[in-house]
Amino acid sequence: MCIFCKIIAGEIPSAKVYEDEYVLAILDISQVTYGHTLVLPKKHCTDILDVDQETMMHIASILPNLSKKIVSNTKALGCNILSNQGEVAGQTVNHLHFHIIPRYGSDDSIVINFNESKKQDLDEVLKTIKG
Ligand code: AMP
Ligand code: ZN
Repeated sequence: MCIFCKIIAGEIPSAKVYEDEYVLAILDISQVTYGHTLVLPKKHCTDILDVDQETMMHIASILPNLSKKIVSNTKALGCNILSNQGEVAGQTVNHLHFHIIPRYGSDDSIVINFNESKKQDLDEVLKTIKG
């Protein structure tokens, strides 16, 4: 059983932010910023490449209101919603989860950069992606 399944089963304690039949939200043990929350489906799936549509719909249906509540009650200015898929993308727990990371300003201990690697031929990229 994975660590998040153990949390869902109550075998490992967690700080519960939200819970319903399908979804659990807990405080991340490493608070990247104040209020950093993880949203996970109760049904185990590895990542977004593995999740079924119904489970994903349940996650999606609670993300906006939960994010609004967290941002509003922490008096944050905004938030990042992140989900790492696979080790190459930084995933360390192989149970799908979404990070809600409240943002307070430029001195937040999180840096996200989108740097262009090299110029791509977008027509060629489209062809590849569409298959
Ligand atoms: P990721 O690297 O995207 O897979 O994120 C995994 C997250 O799970 C990390 O931010 C960890 O701090 C968090 N984490 C690991 N174990 C626990 C735990 N027992 N309770 C709460 N958060 C955890
Ligand atoms: Zn699991």
